[in-house]
Amino acid sequence: MARILIVEDNAEMRMMMMALLGTKGHEIIEAIDGTDVLRWAVEEEPDLVLMDVMMPRVDGWEALAGLKEDHRTEHIPVIMVTARKSMEDMEYAEELGASDYVAKPWSPGELETRVNWALRKRAVPEYPDDFGLPAGFFECGCPMFDGDSEEDHVVPDDCFGHQSLQPVANAS
Ligand code: MN
Repeated sequence: MARILIVEDNAEMRMMMMALLGTKGHEIIEAIDGTDVLRWAVEEEPDLVLMDVMMPRVDGWEALAGLKEDHRTEHIPVIMVTARKSMEDMEYAEELGASDYVAKPWSPGELETRVNWALRKRAVPEYPDDFGLPAGFFECGCPMFDGDSEEDHVVPDDCFGHQSLQPVANAS
């Protein structure tokens, strides 16, 4: 179960993705184009973003770049889900920091499987620093942290791999 932000301008496509992932128990947040995606991501803290490319106003490239340039959101994996399937597009997505790329129309089951892979990678980070933030900006749910401290908890090496690393809200 994860919180997934779907950024897609086509209502039918959005509903289909919601149906596919919602039945897997995920909580879905919808955005109809790239406008305000950064704000949504900061406020809602999704575990994963599924991003269309061709959208009015702010397209998927711009929204992806915005997420990856901001330290509050750069750790959130973004899967591009797009009808553009050229190698140039895939390479550009990789360059901008996307985690994966699903071409429309995808094979039955592909989207759900790629979502699971992306979530699995996020759940077991090699090191908090892999997210590009100092370790102190992470709140740790490991047994070594009692949760009472007001101070940011520096993740110790030995809680490596646990399931609940989350960026602390409002860390600057
Ligand atoms: Mn579109």
